[in-house]
Amino acid sequence: MSQNESPFKILPLCAKEAENLAIILACDGAASVGQVGHEVAVRLTNANASARMCCITAVAAESKAHVDIARRAKKLIVINGCANRCASKVLERLNIPYSYEVVIAKEGVDKIPTLDFDPDDVQRIAEKIAVEALE
Ligand code: SF4
Repeated sequence: MSQNESPFKILPLCAKEAENLAIILACDGAASVGQVGHEVAVRLTNANASARMCCITAVAAESKAHVDIARRAKKLIVINGCANRCASKVLERLNIPYSYEVVIAKEGVDKIPTLDFDPDDVQRIAEKIAVEALE
């Protein structure tokens, strides 16, 4: 099946389009705040043709292609679940500057051991990031 026939929303290729994209890196932590951050990144990706989640784990693993994408991105938006700021620290360790950082636990979401979340928190935080970082 070609991409044109796919039932899925096909995103721009990070490696080809990094200079034209706001690249979003979310920690995807396994707690409420990490999952809110993941869902915020999905929502921003699906709502903005010029924004795109990319693989923070690949950047952390120092995949050359992914480190290159992070360095070339038009904007780099970093979403951390909690004050540990794991996603931001990955970039800081590699001396990759980012343009915007959010910590979900500072946005009125408690860190609790669950993968469930309130969709209203996702909507509220995604709207805030869209206004502050994507407009
Ligand atoms: S920033 Fe917090 S929620 Fe995200 S991966 Fe690190 S410890 Fe987990």
